[in-house]
Amino acid sequence: MTGAIDVDEATPTIFRARTVHTQGSAPADAFAVLGERVIASGSTAALRERLPNATVHDFGDATIVPGFNDAHIHMGLTAEDLLHLDVSHAAVGGLDELLRLVGDQASRSGPGQWVRGSRYDDAKTGVLTRRELDIAAGDVPTLITHVAAHWGVVNSAALAALGYHEDSAPPPGGDLGRDAEGRLDGRLIERALMDVAYPATSTADSPIRPSTQAERLTGLHRAVEQWHAAGLTSICDALVSPADIALLRRAREEGALTLRTGMLLAVSHYEKARELGIGSGFGDDYLRLTGVKGFVDGAVGGRTCLLSEPFSGTDYHGLQTTESAELRESIAQVHRDGNRMGVHANGDAAIRLLLDIYEDLARTDPKPGLRHRIEHCTVVDDEILKRMRALDAIAVPFAGYPAYYGGLLDSWYGRERTARMFAHRSFLDAGVTVAGSSDYPCGPYQPLLGMQSMVTRRGVDDGALVGASQRISAAEALEIFTVGSAAACGDEHHKGRLAPGYLADFVVLDEDPLAVDPDAIAGIQGRHTYVGGTPVWSARS
Ligand SMILES: [Zn+2]
Repeated sequence: MTGAIDVDEATPTIFRARTVHTQGSAPADAFAVLGERVIASGSTAALRERLPNATVHDFGDATIVPGFNDAHIHMGLTAEDLLHLDVSHAAVGGLDELLRLVGDQASRSGPGQWVRGSRYDDAKTGVLTRRELDIAAGDVPTLITHVAAHWGVVNSAALAALGYHEDSAPPPGGDLGRDAEGRLDGRLIERALMDVAYPATSTADSPIRPSTQAERLTGLHRAVEQWHAAGLTSICDALVSPADIALLRRAREEGALTLRTGMLLAVSHYEKARELGIGSGFGDDYLRLTGVKGFVDGAVGGRTCLLSEPFSGTDYHGLQTTESAELRESIAQVHRDGNRMGVHANGDAAIRLLLDIYEDLARTDPKPGLRHRIEHCTVVDDEILKRMRALDAIAVPFAGYPAYYGGLLDSWYGRERTARMFAHRSFLDAGVTVAGSSDYPCGPYQPLLGMQSMVTRRGVDDGALVGASQRISAAEALEIFTVGSAAACGDEHHKGRLAPGYLADFVVLDEDPLAVDPDAIAGIQGRHTYVGGTPVWSARS
């Protein structure tokens, strides 16, 4: 482009740095912003010439990349989690400290109050059952939720409060964990947990007092601050209820939602949205409905996903959490209305089941341009990739699992299979659109750690190489966490690039993630995070 740009009386700002990755077509070391949008990119000299009245903001030796976009993360859940005890491996180390925290909290609990802990990781912290919790918490009902949020452990007082006894049958789509003697061990699996612990999916009356909106708003503020500091400018909350939407709307009205937020509405609440005529795309650039969320199976870290071959060394194939006919019916309704589905499917058996439904609908009720998503889409093979490409379906796999779980993945799934899991290389090679996602709190939320994981496929704790054939370049990883995520949310025309017409969302980094040693990507420090041309976070200097 040449010639002066007509920007009336307004003063644009030219942002420049030593390195600028615009994800645009031409090389640039600067871009110009007016209001919330980029109006031009190119060389600093050329932009100065075209925009003689512009203010120049020079970040010196820094690197600028488009803002990171996490296409599958849990804001509502995190707003809740940040109100509970942090029993993550990073916070407690081992079981002793976890139980000490639980005991402390129990001794301070009033009548009817529960002790809640979040982000427990059995693989790293050790095995927790109702027995240990009985000793630590006594008769105060206690629920400790696993990091993958698909199961939790409760004590005997909680089992009683939930109405469970030794002869209880598990609820549909869920399970109750039992020990070697067949006694309840306190584990609530899938729907047995979801029905009581998460307002977004809960259908039963839970004896657990839900947090108030004011409490959750406090948690939301903490999440937004943490995520901006990590370089996130956009997210998609992968499971929202009407209560979550109300929370996000309130944050938006109070001006606290500086993180652009897309939403996947829990399919159990879709009927209400339908009646109101609300579908994909409804909202504004800060809060928008992306689509509708369904589930086929269990979790990867929780080892409950639906596999064609059993988990290593077992005869266990995982769990289907929604019955096929119900799943088919709900997806068909959303599809008929022209709305986007994001369906959780981890195991290869779950993905095939979902593809059968998507393919049926594409045949019987074609909707050109309506691209459904497969959330996680963890275990794939050539046949699955081919079918996804033909449908133009979008994969939203975990970015950070190789880094977070390391060699544990090989022990649970076997090496042959981990080479087909979180298959970023295969998706790119097959021409399948692939987004960046953490699924936090189920995996680490930092997108730079996600990038490092995709590039190195190496565990950060044990150094184990997991499915090395799936490694991608840092440039590809950046593309996935910006352009790919934007596509998964239907925002590809205004997010993910620093090009004319795109939102001026960007991150200023100390170093260039495309140039450093791949093992150092996660350690790169952020300097500033900008949303709509305005700083929303800066490092303390
Ligand atoms: Zn999720």
